[in-house]
Formats: sequence, structure tokens, C-alpha cells
Amino acid sequence: MTPRIAIVGAGPAGIYAADLLRAQVPEAAIDLYEKLPAPYGLVRYGVAPDHPRIRKIIDALHDVLLQPGIRLRGNVEVGVDVTVDELRRAYDGVVIATGADRDVAFDVPGAELPGSFGAAEFVAWYDAHPDVAQGWGLEAESVAVLGAGNVALDVTRILAKHAAALESTDTPDHILDALTASRVRDVHLFARRGPADVRFSALELRELGEQHDVEVIVDPADLELDDHASRMLEQFSQRRIIVRTLADWAQRPSAGASRRIHLHFRHRPVRVVGTDRVEGIEFERTASDPLGRMVGTGELVRYEVGAVYRAIGYLSSPVPGVPFDAARGVVPNAEGRVLDADGTPVPGLYATGWIKRG
Ligand SMILES: Cc1cc2nc3c(=O)[nH]c(=O)nc-3n(C[C@H](O)[C@H](O)[C@H](O)COP(=O)(O)OP(=O)(O)OC[C@H]3O[C@@H](n4cnc5c(N)ncnc54)[C@H](O)[C@@H]3O)c2cc1C
Repeated sequence: MTPRIAIVGAGPAGIYAADLLRAQVPEAAIDLYEKLPAPYGLVRYGVAPDHPRIRKIIDALHDVLLQPGIRLRGNVEVGVDVTVDELRRAYDGVVIATGADRDVAFDVPGAELPGSFGAAEFVAWYDAHPDVAQGWGLEAESVAVLGAGNVALDVTRILAKHAAALESTDTPDHILDALTASRVRDVHLFARRGPADVRFSALELRELGEQHDVEVIVDPADLELDDHASRMLEQFSQRRIIVRTLADWAQRPSAGASRRIHLHFRHRPVRVVGTDRVEGIEFERTASDPLGRMVGTGELVRYEVGAVYRAIGYLSSPVPGVPFDAARGVVPNAEGRVLDADGTPVPGLYATGWIKRG
């Protein structure tokens, strides 16, 4: 009998799962259910438009979808148009690969003021996600980005970028028009920890400094190394490269660019300031204790900004009918086998990708 497998979510995890299953069980019939009209998940609606080399992964994913025995069923939201129980009755196995689509909660006063945005919203806008409205106001001259990972770098880079630099990409006209009209001049990126603890990749960090008419400004005082930072640099070569890149920027004289990216370290957000909308953001300066843990110093600093973009993490949404660990934002699993509330594997139900790992 032909084994029948349903995969929920046609992002990279779902498509690679289809490819691997097909390689191991060539006679399997595999249906990929995708809630959007188009496949490829965050490779299409997350990776920044100025990263065409990474977007090229789509070609390899597309080849998988062309294989015999693999069918894409787009525009079908599992949990809404069909239930997981219905799929489990109709298929021998069901793989949940629905990824992560929400911003982690940002729990400080003022976080909900107009002008405070999650990175997931902004990224979905500049990648023309079909569920996101076309307009995006970029009226503030000075904006803050919170985060210490590559998504924070993407958001910072796109906010500072001149629209002309995206004209050779597949960015739609309405987004180019909004970026052309942008009044943003100063983008302040704030990380909670020191420069030896950020999770940027060295390559993506360097890209910030390779943009036309955009300069990167680093305060040399932010690069002073404590014992913890020195230990981190001894252990990790990537972190050494990051700190070297930052030190290089800290020494550079101003190039007089029309847009500036300011990198700030050891700033923990405590409050978004404003009455009707974002007018500023307040931070507590942090330090590392002897064990390397981040501690507050009690020193408060405030920056006047007209918008705040939070790139502090993505979170998965539960799929109705599938166990979910809301605290970790994952489907509880043992090596991909979905576990019920007692920790027992649910027969025929599996998870892969971001919803499995978080
Ligand atoms: C802003 C950003 C930039 C990134 N840049 C890079 C990069 O440069 N390089 C890199 O290697 N990685 C990058 N990543 C990471 C990469 O995108 C993820 O590792 C990868 O997309 C996770 O794959 P996934 O298939 O688990 O989830 P996703 O890509 O999220 O795919 C999940 C799919 O499931 C669908 N779905 C969800 N719920 C349902 C449902 N109920 N029914 C049917 N379908 C459903 C979704 O529409 C989506 O198509 C980036 C991520 C983000 C957020």
C-alpha cells in the first residue's frame, strides 16, 4: 500500500522533510498543506530582499516541489479549513512544520504605544506578505531597533537603506515608494549585553558598513572589555571578528553620510516613552557580573526616537489539535515525535523546523 503523508507548512522545514521522506520511501504520496497561496515560508517572507543569494534557496526548494509524488496544496489553513484529526484519519503520518510567525512579547510600559512595532510585522511588510497592509509610515527621523541577532541587523539595514539600492531586487514598487519617502536618518540599534555577547553573524554585521551613504557609529567606551568579555573573545573566533569590526568603526572619522546607524551596547529597555505615540525610549545600562550574567547598574538613559522596532525573537503559534508548550513556543517532542501531556508519543504525529526547536 502507498504510504500517505501530510506535511503542514510549506516552508523550508516542510519542503526538506518532503524531500527526505521521498528519498527514503520513494513510493510515498506526500501532500504539503500551506495556508498562503505561495510556498517557501520565511525564505520568501522573512529573508531580506537585499539577500538574493539566500533567497536562491527557493530554487532548490522549488525542485523538490516538482518531484513526482509531492503535491502542494496552497491556500489551505490547517486548523481552519481542515483539522489535524481529519488529516490524521486520512494519512499514515502528519508532520507539523508551521514555523514561527509572531514576535516574542515585549513586556515594558509603553510597549503598545502607536509607533512601537514587532520585527515580524515590519519584515512581513517589506517582504510583501499577503496578509500585511501595503502602507507603512516611515515619518520619524530617529528610530530605535532592539535586539542582538541577525533579524535586528536586517531591520536596521533596511530602515537605513536608500531605496535605490533595492531597485535591482524583486521588491515591489509600493515598498520602494515608501522607502524613497522615508524620513529616517538615524537608526539606533540597542543590545542588552556587551559587544562580546551579541548573536549577530560577523558577515551580516559587516554588511551594515557596506551601504552607500550610510555610516556606522560606535562609541569606543562601549567596547571596553571586562573579564567576562575577554573570556568570550578567547573562546569564540566569531566574537573576536565582531569586536574587531566594531573597533574599526569606532575609530573611523565621520564620512558625512546622510544616514547613520548608531550601535549601542549594554542597554536594557525599561520603558517606551510617549502619550499618544512613541516619543522616546528609556534604558537601564547593564554590566556583567563575575559569572558573566547580565546585571542592571541602576543608571538610566533616555533617547528621543519616533518609533521602536523590537527584534527580540520569533514565536510559534499553536496549531489547533496539536499539543503546544506555550512557555517555550514549541510543540513538545522527542526527536520530532510529538508528545502528549503525559510525555507519550502521539501515534503518527511529528514536528520539524522552528515549531519543533523554537
Ligand atoms: C527576518 C528573518 C530573516 C531571516 N534570514 C535568514 C537568512 O538570511 N538566512 C537563513 O539561513 N535563515 C534566515 N532566517 C531563518 C529562516 O527563515 C528559518 O530558519 C526558516 O524559515 C524556518 O523554517 P520553517 O519551515 O520551520 O518555518 P517557516 O519558514 O516559518 O515556514 C512555515 C510555513 O508554514 C505555513 N503555515 C503556518 N501555519 C500553517 C497552518 N496552520 N496551515 C498551513 N500552513 C501553515 C506558513 O505560512 C509557512 O509557509 C530568517 C528568519 C527571519 C524571521
